[in-house]
Amino acid sequence: MQDLAAALGTRKRQRLYRTRQTLEGPQSVEVRIEGRDFLSFCSNDYLGLANHPQMIAALREGAQRFGVGSGAAHLISGHSYAHQALEEELADFVGRPRALLFSTGYMANLGVVAALCGRSDSVVQDRLNHASLLDAARLSGARLVRYAHNDTAALARKLSKASAQALIASDAVFSMDGDRAPLRELQALAQQHAAWLLVDDAHGFGVLGQQGRGWCFDQLGSAADNVVLMATLGKALGTFGAFVAGSEALIETLIQQARTFIYTTASPPALAWAARTALSLVRRGDALRATLDGHIDYFRHCAAELGLPLMPSSTAIQPLLVGDAGRALALSEALRRRNLLVTAIRPPTVARGAARLRLTLSAAHRRDQLDYLLQSLADSLRECPHGD
Ligand SMILES: *Cc1c(COP(=O)(O)O)cnc(C)c1O
Repeated sequence: MQDLAAALGTRKRQRLYRTRQTLEGPQSVEVRIEGRDFLSFCSNDYLGLANHPQMIAALREGAQRFGVGSGAAHLISGHSYAHQALEEELADFVGRPRALLFSTGYMANLGVVAALCGRSDSVVQDRLNHASLLDAARLSGARLVRYAHNDTAALARKLSKASAQALIASDAVFSMDGDRAPLRELQALAQQHAAWLLVDDAHGFGVLGQQGRGWCFDQLGSAADNVVLMATLGKALGTFGAFVAGSEALIETLIQQARTFIYTTASPPALAWAARTALSLVRRGDALRATLDGHIDYFRHCAAELGLPLMPSSTAIQPLLVGDAGRALALSEALRRRNLLVTAIRPPTVARGAARLRLTLSAAHRRDQLDYLLQSLADSLRECPHGD
């Protein structure tokens, strides 16, 4: 216990201590915490679907039809019509033969990598990949090889040294940076080396590409059989869960072998029912995506005029590079005093010296709210000097 307390103390002194805050109402661009209203720029609810009236109605209808708990794993008796219908619609949407639901994106990544790779294989990953992909490689027991961010020449060198069977894994849109992976080049390299390519489209699915089919579909279309798509339902789709899409043989293999699919209770069918409504809102969501894209352009344009240190990203994730973890935290606190919710991202989520404010924009934001954010960012940066 003393060791734990000492380690916690160290964390606090380094300003790396993390705490939760409790929302007293729904996830939205305006949230209530401890009786105070905040304007939020930190959820991944890019289209404002998490609290959409049609989604709430769908969840209620799903619960009336299927109850609340699924009661069992998918392979026992927990797989319902709601799950089945959602899987078929997702597969159709991303142009792949089959799709398989997982409870979370984290579990989907663990399940896929551990099912496809073993001790004699290599998992080759972008350095900035999501933690779940790194953990997936560790769980699989394969050799973990990392390449410099979006550096396909470095990837090619690593692949030529890799063992017989390799799996390349990359975020499609990098979760802490907002930039995109060069998926066509990754796919060409995967094909050349007879490797798998696992694309994690958590932040592209719903917002990028035609009808929001994601960055993977946009770049690779109905991709070749060596491409495995993973996307989540808890971000732009405003619900919860994830799916993997690919060939018939891939999905059947996962059903037989992905332990994070097999040994866990199926998620509530009503959630799958609500996700079907989310998918139809996404399909018909061109106006929402146009609003979001307009916000991104406007925000970047104004930020440049104000001289804000934005990172190069054209997606809804707009990080502002701060560097020092303490200063990032001070900025987040200064914004909080202005009733703005913006998270400071610190090590180990990002590299040391790369602490940042991770701003996320949503179609549900209004222009005047962006104006308030921009002015507040400029004022807070002035208020919080370097070396804080
Ligand atoms: C959020 C996220 C995940 C995990 O998905 P969950 O459904 O939240 O577990 C995986 N990969 C990336 C890139 C993510 O941003």
